[in-house]
Order: sequence, then structure tokens, then C-alpha cells
Amino acid sequence: MRIPAEIESDLPFLTALRRDLHAHPELGFEEERTSAIVAKLLEEAGISVHRGLGGTGVVGTLQIGNGTRRIGLRADMDALAMPETAERPYKSTVTGKMHACGHDGHTTMLIGAARHLAATRGFSGTVHFIFQPAEEGRGGAKRMVEDGLFELFPCDAVYGLHNMPGLAVDEMAVVSGPQLASSDSWRLTLRGTGTHGAKPHLGRDPITAAGTFLSSLQTIVGRIVDPLQPAVVSACSVQAGDPKALNVIPDIVEIGGTARAYSPEVRDQLEAEIGRLAQGTALMFGIVAEYAFERRIPPVVNDADATARALGAAVDVFDAKVVTHFPPSTAGDDFAFFGQKAPGCYVWLGNGPAVDGALHHNTAYDFNDGAIGPGVAFWTRLVERELASEG
Ligand SMILES: [Zn+2]
Ligand SMILES: [Zn+2]
Repeated sequence: MRIPAEIESDLPFLTALRRDLHAHPELGFEEERTSAIVAKLLEEAGISVHRGLGGTGVVGTLQIGNGTRRIGLRADMDALAMPETAERPYKSTVTGKMHACGHDGHTTMLIGAARHLAATRGFSGTVHFIFQPAEEGRGGAKRMVEDGLFELFPCDAVYGLHNMPGLAVDEMAVVSGPQLASSDSWRLTLRGTGTHGAKPHLGRDPITAAGTFLSSLQTIVGRIVDPLQPAVVSACSVQAGDPKALNVIPDIVEIGGTARAYSPEVRDQLEAEIGRLAQGTALMFGIVAEYAFERRIPPVVNDADATARALGAAVDVFDAKVVTHFPPSTAGDDFAFFGQKAPGCYVWLGNGPAVDGALHHNTAYDFNDGAIGPGVAFWTRLVERELASEG
């Protein structure tokens, strides 16, 4: 592991910053305090700052020399609407909000890299430090793109990083191809004709139809999608009837869930097949199906060239501790919207062992401060290699 001495000497400051952010979590598009701190620190480092992109987003731009290549580095800033249960000196001070995904660490590491690069100036070209709001399901990346992120700050490549428990803090995974799944929502209303529970023949029972639909749902993954292509379909919500009215067959059953895939083809297939099953089931039971599939986040698929560049930087810092085979996650990350605009690579930085079994989105999760130095070293090395000075 090679961490420059200047980064090591900034670690007390960065660790204090990380813990301060942890103690003051803010939800998506509400990152007023966090983005103000980010903007102030970037300005203090002599970096030009654009605020308010995508609501609370911040972009810092550092141009050095006459190199023409431009790259974007992305950190997400938001926390989650959940309580923090673990006791720690910097525990969340806001009831019902916590940094359970480590975005406090992501923000800190990108600030660390910006400070270091602005001081050492060891590259030639342009780097955009992209501090994104609202990664956790609120659409921050899409909003930044819609607000003109890539028109205002053109990028020839864009990089994202996420902490990963289970990898040691001196390990990093840099893998080409699919990293994170598409994350889409679907909703189905089965509309029958409500009737007396004792006289089902006088109505059209949507509950029995729902049972048939649900028991057939996994045949989409099991029988229709290519067995060599990962896919997940889950029903996560079922609403119907009233437990206080056990002699009433209701008019409607509402079902909702998620669908995940790593390729556009399988994503299309899931959308079509859930709908076909819904319509077919409704036809079979003589009722009506209303189906909607909401495309939320595309899959994150690492570009081969950007991955090779990230891998070079990772090897410079982590030596043989770089993992090039690592299973993709069925979670999603809206970094995917950035990866649609420029060749992208999303890497996993070790967060050490899962303390007390706490993984991402657990009420006891915490970013590991031991990962700050390695993360800052990776970002700075990536910029130095990507935007190598002439001669
Ligand atoms: Zn998360
Ligand atoms: Zn996250």
C-alpha cells in the first residue's frame, strides 16, 4: 500500500470531517449543510466551485496545465431515513436519519483528493469533483444530468467509488463489465368484482387471481430468462381486503415489487414478462389487470478502457491487493446515469470486516476511517495517471 506522506498528514483533518458528516446526516436533496461544507473546503483549496446543480449538488473544477483530457470523479453525499442504533461518539444527532451506506466517507475521500491535488498539482488536464445529492432512490444523478452536468462540465471518462464491507481496507475491487443491477419498480392492480365471502360465484375474486400470479412470478426468471443471465423479480408489497372484514371479497388487489437485471435485453424482458403474466392471469380469472413498470436506474456496467485506467491507479496504490474478480451486486446505484454520458468505471473500496455483522443499510453500519487514506490515494493516483503531465 502506497499512501503519499501529504495524504497521511491530512488524515486527522479528514477523519474529523468524516465523523462530523456522520453526526449530521441529511437525506437526498436536503444536503444543505453537507454541500455548504463541501463548497467551502473546495474554495479554500483554490478550486472553482459550482453550487446548486441538481438541487444540492456541487461540482469543483481543477484545471492544471494545458492537457485537454477531462475526467469526473463522483462522491454521493446523502444519508438514509433510518435510526442509528450503535453507540459511537459521533453517532447521528438527527433522529431517524443516519449515514448507513458510508456516503459520509465517500464525500470525505473526494474532498481529501481535491485538497491534495490542488496542493501538489501533479497532472495536466481538467478534473471535475462531482458531489452528488440523493443517491439513495431519490434520483440525484439523473437530476444533475438533466441540469446539464455534462454540458457544463464535459468529461471524457467518469469514475465512481463505493465502500464495501468484507474487503479489507488495503483491498480494492476493479472489475470490467456489470457491477450493479438495474433497479426498477413495478405495480399491478388486479381489479375484480367484490362480493360476499360466502358467495364467490356472484363476483370475480381478485385474491385467488393474485395467488396464481404470485405463485407463477418466479417462472419468469426460472423459465424465460437465459439461465446464464442474472435476473431478480420480487413481489414486495401486497394490499387487499380488510382483516376486520373476513366475509368480504374485495374488488381489488394491489401488488408491487422490484426487478433487477444487468443487461438492457433482460431488463426489457422482465418488463414485458411481468406484464404478460399479469394480463394472462387476469384473462384466466375474468378480471382486469392494470400494470405499470417504472424504469428507475439502469445497470452500472464498467467500460473496458475506463476500467483498465482505474486498474492501473489501483495497482499503483494497492499492489497485489487489487481484486479483479468480484461478484456484481444486485443493488443499484444511479451512477449509471453518469456512465451513460461518458465511459465509466465504478470501483469497490474495502471497508474492512462487517463489524457485528452490520452491512450497508444496517442501523449499526459505519464507514471505516481506516479506508480514508487508501481512498484518497486511489483518487489522486487515478487523476495523476489519467491526466499525466507531459515529459
Ligand atoms: Zn445505499
Ligand atoms: Zn451507497
